[in-house]
Amino acid sequence: MNGILIKNGKIVRENAIYAGNLLIRGNKIADTDYRGETPTGCICIDACGKYIAPGFIDIHVHGGGGYDFMDCTVEAFTHITDIHLKNGTTTIVPTAVSSSFENILKLIEVYKESQPACPTMYGLHLEGPYISPNQKGAHKEKYLHSPNREETEKLLGAGKGIIKRITAAPELDHMREFAESMLSNDVSLSIGHSDATSDIALEAFEYGFSHVTHLYSATPGVRKINQVVKAGVIEAAYLNDKITVELIADGKHAAQDALKLAVKIKGADKVALVTDALRPAGTNVTESWLGEKIPENRVIIEDGVAKLPDRSSFAGSVATSSMLLEKGITHYGLSIPDTVKMLTETPAKILGLKDKGRIKEGYIADIVLFNEKFEVCDVILNGEMV
Ligand SMILES: [Zn+2]
Repeated sequence: MNGILIKNGKIVRENAIYAGNLLIRGNKIADTDYRGETPTGCICIDACGKYIAPGFIDIHVHGGGGYDFMDCTVEAFTHITDIHLKNGTTTIVPTAVSSSFENILKLIEVYKESQPACPTMYGLHLEGPYISPNQKGAHKEKYLHSPNREETEKLLGAGKGIIKRITAAPELDHMREFAESMLSNDVSLSIGHSDATSDIALEAFEYGFSHVTHLYSATPGVRKINQVVKAGVIEAAYLNDKITVELIADGKHAAQDALKLAVKIKGADKVALVTDALRPAGTNVTESWLGEKIPENRVIIEDGVAKLPDRSSFAGSVATSSMLLEKGITHYGLSIPDTVKMLTETPAKILGLKDKGRIKEGYIADIVLFNEKFEVCDVILNGEMV
């Protein structure tokens, strides 16, 4: 059997780092502490002291390399997944920004066409259009509305098994019926771009929402309503221990204290780091678009982040998983194992992946090697060098 022996590495496990050799046979991790000679048929790589971690899993990505998934072409899908793979993302969840319903259906079809060329994809994430106009962020208000039965049936007809996540605002009409339909078709639900108070959010967690999309961004917390101080989506996520959250850890969207607070309350196994990356991620451009390449979607890139042209809101990030790794450790002050866990094991659990996200015998051999500057150097996908 073919394989890869990675010698002299620092293996990053759940709560520790140890010097060792990792053996991959076929597409699986065969031995996490291999001591023997290079087996026949295996190539041997000297890691020269680099860290060996599981491949990164990014559950919220709009684009990169000059393309956006909303371009709805196989070319876009291939370029985006490639640029993120080079930066360590071995599992990616393409994310749709709120758009016309026809466009969303088209995106589902292009996803199907792109699957053979994009092995890192794991289902679609629809961010909207069932979100609150009050927390629209960079989403276009004209597309936002409450769910209805006709669209629900069309989404499930075209996207069953492909749509894995939906970000929605539970305060909208008909949300409970919508949630029931989606949950019974293995689509997970996440609160995001929502103005909900904590009672609405906590109730939504009871009937099936399980996650919060980019916590702190378009998810308000404590505020005064009719003179009464009310908790919001953020505190609801903190009050329910089962709920997972994601943060845009690009060093811009989430401040250090905000991220530290989330990790302190929820723990690294309930907080995933995501890029929420836009079209310009992985490029050096200063202007780009959120979603379709039309004038009204223009965004500017300055200070390492994408903003609406009037600077009223961040529009998303230009990060890659490699940047999140570096920011997690150097900017946010997280430990290496915790940062890696939040990029691998935690998002794997959120997606329900049982054989990815850990350096463990029998797991899929998606591996990232990174150096002392926390830069990704080598990527192995499904047992093959990228
Ligand atoms: Zn997004």
